[in-house]
Order: sequence, then C-alpha cells, then structure tokens
Amino acid sequence: MTTATHEETLGFQTEVKQLLHLMINSLYSNREIFLRELISNGADACDKLRYAALDNDALYEGDSELRIEIDHDAEAGTVTVRDNGVGMNRDEVIENLGTIARSGTAEFLKQLSGEQQKDARLIGQFGVGFYSGFIVADDITVRTRKAGSAEAEGVEWHSRGEGEFTVADIEREVHGTEVVLHLKEDAREFADDFRLKSLVRKYSDHIEVPVRMPRVEAAKDEDGNDIEGSETTTWETVNEATALWVRPKSEISDDEYKGFYKHVAHDFSDPLTWSHNKVEGKLEYTSLLYVPGRAPFDLYERDGARGVKLYVQRVFIMDDAEQFLPLYLRFIKGVLDTRDLSLNVSRELLQQDPKVEKIKSALTKRALDMLGKLAKDKAAYQTFWNTFGSVLKEGPAEDFANREKIAGLLRFSTTQTDSTTQDQSLADYVSRMKDGQEKIYYIVADGFNAAKSSPHLEIFRKKGIEVLLLHDRIDEWLMSHLDEFEGKHLVDVAKGELDLGDVEDEEEKKAQEETAKAKQDLVKRVKEALGDEVQEVKVTHRLTDSPACVVLPEHEMGFQMRRIMEAAGQPMPEVKPILELNPEHALVARLESVEGEGFEDLARILLDQAIIAEGGHLDDPAAYVKRLNALLSA
Ligand code: ADP
Ligand code: MG
Repeated sequence: MTTATHEETLGFQTEVKQLLHLMINSLYSNREIFLRELISNGADACDKLRYAALDNDALYEGDSELRIEIDHDAEAGTVTVRDNGVGMNRDEVIENLGTIARSGTAEFLKQLSGEQQKDARLIGQFGVGFYSGFIVADDITVRTRKAGSAEAEGVEWHSRGEGEFTVADIEREVHGTEVVLHLKEDAREFADDFRLKSLVRKYSDHIEVPVRMPRVEAAKDEDGNDIEGSETTTWETVNEATALWVRPKSEISDDEYKGFYKHVAHDFSDPLTWSHNKVEGKLEYTSLLYVPGRAPFDLYERDGARGVKLYVQRVFIMDDAEQFLPLYLRFIKGVLDTRDLSLNVSRELLQQDPKVEKIKSALTKRALDMLGKLAKDKAAYQTFWNTFGSVLKEGPAEDFANREKIAGLLRFSTTQTDSTTQDQSLADYVSRMKDGQEKIYYIVADGFNAAKSSPHLEIFRKKGIEVLLLHDRIDEWLMSHLDEFEGKHLVDVAKGELDLGDVEDEEEKKAQEETAKAKQDLVKRVKEALGDEVQEVKVTHRLTDSPACVVLPEHEMGFQMRRIMEAAGQPMPEVKPILELNPEHALVARLESVEGEGFEDLARILLDQAIIAEGGHLDDPAAYVKRLNALLSA
C-alpha cells in the first residue's frame, strides 16, 4: 500500500463546480463518453511523452511501449484507465484537475442560461474532459508520476466530485497516470469486460496508442486442459491501434487505403479514388476523402446518410458529419480529423462554429480537385459520372463560388457524338468550337431523342455547330445556374433571338433581313389568326426541315422546367410562346396562298405541331386532330 504524505484538501475552481453540476445533470443520457474522454487523455499523455522523449530518451524509463490499459473489478464496482504517458507532478495535478485552464472558460460560462436544455447543448462545445468521469463515478482516485521524476514524487488526487479534492505525495514506481473510477450504483454496468471492449472499439479504434485489456489464461497440460493454479493475466490489444490517416501517405499502400475505405463506408466494393491531406497552419486537420464506386441506396433521399466520419485528435466523434461537405458532394465518404474542434462537439454546435465553415470550404475544394484528377482517367471518370453525375449537377445552384470548377467536371451528350452517354466536357466542346463561334449552345428536352431531333437544332446541324443535348430531369435547373464557362456564354437554343455570331457572314444576315421584310404580311396575318395564343410571330432561319417552331423569351423559365414544376403541383404563370416560321418550307408557302377560314386552321396546325415537337401538351388535342384530318382529306 502506498503511504500518502503531505496531504492537502483544496476547493475546485468555481467554474469546475458549475461544470460538474451541469454535466452530471445534462449528459446522463450519453454517459458512456467518459471512457472516450479518459482514453483520449491517456493518448494525449502518450503523445506528449513521445514528443518529449524525442529529445530525451531517458524519459521512457526503459518502457517506451506506450499504451493504455483498461481494467475493471465488477465486485468492487471500479473501472481503471491507466497510461504510461507523460504523467503529472503535484502542481500540474492541482492545476489540471482542479481548474479549467482552457481559455474561453469565461465566455462559456457567460453563455450559460440556467436552462437545462440549452446549457446541455453548450456544454458539448466546451468539452467535458476529465471531469466527465463524475457522470458515472461517485469517487475518483488519480495516481500519477511525471516521466523522468523520482519514485517518491508520485501524486495521489482524490475527489467525490462535490466541490473539493485532496492531493498527497505518494511513492509510485511507474510513471504515467491511472484513474480509478468508483462507479455509482446505477453505473455498475460499465464494470464489464464486454461493455468496455465494445466502447473501446466504438470510440478509440483509430487511436494509434494500443488500448489493452486483461485476459486471464491458464497454462495447458499435454491433453490441452487448463492446469489449475497456473492462471496468468495477459494483455490483449482491443483497438486497431493505428490511425491510418495519421500515417504519411508514402507509407500507406493502395490496399490499405481500400481496406480502410470499406471500413468507413461500410461498402464491399473498392473506391474509385481517394485524396489524403494533412493541413497545418490556421486550420489543423487531416482529411481522407473517397469517391465510392457505386451509389448508396439512399443517394436521393433527403435524410440519407452523408458526410464524413469526424474525429477530433484521432478520437471518434461522430459518423455522417454532414456539415463538412455540401449536399451536392454527399456521395463522398471519408474521415476528417481535426484539432480545431472540441471532443464534445455536437451536430447542433457544428452548425454554429465558424471553423466548420472554413473546413467545409477547404474540403469542398479537395473533393473537387480529387474529381478533377479522376477525370484524367476517362473510364474511371465515366463510371463516376454515370453513378453520381446527376448529384454533382446540383452543384452550380448550391455552390456559387465553385461553379466554374464544377462546370469543368460536368459531362454531356452532344450532337457531336449523338450518344445518350454523357461523356463530353465543356472543355471538349470549347476545343471544337467553330471559327467565329462565341457561345456554347445547348438544348434541354425531356429525353435524349426529344433533344436530338428538336427542330431547333436544324440550323446548327446545317452549319456544323455542336450543341449540348441535355436530357436529365435536373438539367434545366442546372443550366439556369450556369451561364458561363471559360468566359463563354451558355445559350439555350430554344430561347430568345438566334445568334450564331460570326459563323454567319454579312451576306447571310442581309438575306435574312430581306426575307423578313418580304414576309411581313404573312407574319401579320398569322398573328391575327392566332390572337392571344402567341406572343409574337416571326420568320426564322433556325429551321431547315420543319415548317415552324416555338421559342421562349430569353429569360423565361424553359418548357421542360415548367412541366416539372407543374407536375409537382406548382402553378405556373402562363407564358405565351413566340412562333417562328420557316420561310423556305412548302407548308409555309402554302399558308401564304390560302385565304379565308382555311388560313386559320393551317396556322393553328403549325403552332400545335411546333408545341408537340417541343414535347409540350396541347390544350385541345382533339381539335388539332380534326383540323389535321380536314387538311389531309382536302
Ligand atoms: P483536455 O484533455 O481537453 O485538456 P481534460 O479535462 O480532459 O481536458 O484534461 C485536463 C488536463 O489534465 C489535460 O490537459 C492534461 O494536462 C491533464 N490530464 C488529464 N488526464 C491526464 C493523463 N492521463 N495524463 C496526463 N495528464 C492528464
Ligand atoms: Mg481530455
């Protein structure tokens, strides 16, 4: 037994008393965290000793195998957490286990309102640390000795968590610290081998210090039976004891990265790629982000699991910390380990912490860069795009700051390949732009075929100008948030005036003006016949094969988007299309020569056909069929 000398009783700092009171009352439902906190302190102590011993090997006192041991005694109702880390001297014990030395204490306490719930949230931000032992214990004894000091310089600290503690000098053979928790009656469940082991695995798997627990083994006789009285205790490492992301990149094999991915992402298949980064400076964090090879079942569910696994100083804090990546990158999996947050940070607190926003924007950049790198491998990127492309398309709307970067990662079908496979980038498009072409042209339709055979593309095919064929549900939404790429405007070919830039020469433009003049009369008659149903009638040179098309004013919501909104029950203000006529077309020539009632019927047929070609619905389809049949049988 140790003999304690020079014993003194001291009062806790006022703030500690407040904290103890608050913690015991508000963290009851989450009390298992005490073990995490104590292991974390043990790991920190090992880290500190490791660091100090870099200069002075003697500090190890011949025992450089740093470790944490967890022992328990069910009968006595105790749990002991022991480390062979740096330890503390008497002054340090009084300072560290009697006050809250961290800066920010005053501000923290000022924010306390006395309201149980609100304070419980705040306490997480503050970090409960060592004192969390009192959530489960009514009596705590700490024995410690600073590494490198004499055996006589051991210290024993003891408290019942009620406002005061005692410190005394003791003889202590080993350096490091042991914390003995005497469990409260209702917390005896923690003095259990299985329970402790599972908590260690849950919270401390990737702490690199081994966490060991005792196993009693008996020697065996020749027949394999236990030899009575031969029981010895061996120590078994319970956690994995390696924080993979902490190791230098150069020392981690691809297989190790893949294995770790499967562990964090609960996925059986390999990731497509990963990015491992260590950041020091204003922010201090390590991130290991992965792009999965397949989509989770809940990718499109609003409350689906997303985000990274958050560690603070290698201590597991939470799964699915969604605050560190934007929604459009919700498929990214991985780990964030930071020194910038408290161990007790909660989801609510993450939302308020300005550091979280900073880390988020850094991680977002990492993730986008990682995708940029992946794009160099066309096959792999295509797998990525086919799996997650439509999620990434949410990006420009959600993340204005990065939209140019995201735009570079998008892939499209185009008239160049005429394939439903979206595999062309905007950069590919730009590299193929024609001399004199200043804009990037696109069309949005309900499906690939509708896009591909839209009348709006006729002039573009004739001139050999490429057009992006957008046919995903989200595409119009995407394009409404993307108006430029590398300084080139993105233009919907079904909206506004057709402007082919210098691809058309002066002569062509002049000829178009002359045709427009020559057809003034026809245009006027058609407008009169259709009345309110169209906003305007024009002659166009967009068309080569079709007699007519409908166009929307430049800033109107597109046809596809309107249909989606209407389908979702969103009433849309009526918008009148502009009807454009192809002056070269035989039906238009015929229209010009018709007089009387037949004129209106034919004009209506042209309008209705243009709407159908756009994927639109007619108000009165039967009337259209009747008119068309009358025309066919005439
Ligand atoms: P934190 O770990 O955030 O500093 P804690 O309340 O957990 O806060 O611990 C307070 C301080 O007590 C630590 O900073 C450390 O100096 C000291 N301490 C706690 N546990 C140990 C230990 N096992 N070994 C050495 N020092 C410890
Ligand atoms: Mg701590």
